[in-house]
Amino acid sequence: MHLDVELHKSFGRFDFATGFQIEGSRIGIFGPSGSGKSTLGNLLAGLLPPDAGRVCLNEHCLFDSSTGVNLAPEKRRVAVVFQHAHLFPHLSVRNNLLYGYRRIAARRRKLDIEEVAEALTLGHLLKRRIGGLSGGEKQRVALGRALLACPDLLILDEPLSALDKGLKDQIIPYLRKTLRRFAIPYLYISHSLGEMRLLTDQVLHFSAGRLQEVTDAETLARRRISDNGTGYLNHLHLSDPREVGSMLAYRWGSNELFLIDHGQPRNGLFALASKEVLLFKKHPQALSARNLLCSSILAMTPRGGSVEVRLQCCEEELTAQVVREAALELGLEVGMPIYAAIKASAFRWMA
Ligand code: ADP
Ligand code: MG
Repeated sequence: MHLDVELHKSFGRFDFATGFQIEGSRIGIFGPSGSGKSTLGNLLAGLLPPDAGRVCLNEHCLFDSSTGVNLAPEKRRVAVVFQHAHLFPHLSVRNNLLYGYRRIAARRRKLDIEEVAEALTLGHLLKRRIGGLSGGEKQRVALGRALLACPDLLILDEPLSALDKGLKDQIIPYLRKTLRRFAIPYLYISHSLGEMRLLTDQVLHFSAGRLQEVTDAETLARRRISDNGTGYLNHLHLSDPREVGSMLAYRWGSNELFLIDHGQPRNGLFALASKEVLLFKKHPQALSARNLLCSSILAMTPRGGSVEVRLQCCEEELTAQVVREAALELGLEVGMPIYAAIKASAFRWMA
């Protein structure tokens, strides 16, 4: 997907002005509340009229104030999923899903409802009314409806913000899986860096109505550490688990990691806080932690009272956070071999 944008919109006290060209399929719009993220989404979808500018999506011009082009929202092939599902309460789940689908030309219908319902685990709900559904189920219906409209661009505007944390954690894997499977390019709008890391490849970072930078969530996550001291969260892709007593042994590149078996889905992305990684200069003889990785130090960055230590573990990278005194005591230096110890209980399945 190629997006070429030049947009101006003033709300009196708030002035939104941006210009960018971007190519990709998983793009994040990130920034604090009030930075203009939804304004951008609404301008692109045609839900808000710009004061001036241009919006081109792939080879289509959707808006151009210099030539008077201004396609109506339903002509733009842009679908939006909002924070609140905005479903039709008098229609069944099936008819909500089919709402956009029935309004597009038959030749553009690339997905079928059974396939989408199955991917979003909505099959058993198809005959139900919207009223009795949970918040998470409603958001899945809203996503399914948007996918079935086969848009050229899907805009997800804080689709998880109204859900509580536990539900969010449940829905993110669905979102990842479904968006990947149906391969519809999207803009993911959120103020959550965690969601950006899980769902986007590139990030447009907004602040006060202006595009600050084009970056990626990983870069933002590393920078964020120094701001709030919570520490970097490692994301590890683990695969091929096998049972070893009460634990699961996973492959992490060519490393092996032992995790407590919580009945987590078998493969996927796991979170590991950098504070949970302990460093030893010599091979510890007795250790309760189940994982001991032989690694070398790639880089060290001071972060307040701590030092962020980036490690190379075979071909994989891992970040540890240690207090400055410990780093001094251990005499940590770039290039030095080091043992990283991790408890089997320190990993959390994410998606
Ligand atoms: P974000 O989605 O990043 O939280 P918004 O784009 O919703 O930010 O809002 C950015 C600013 O624009 C806010 O100060 C908001 O009050 C203002 N704004 C948004 N929509 C309107 C509107 N229709 N009328 C007046 N002001 C608006
Ligand atoms: Mg918003």
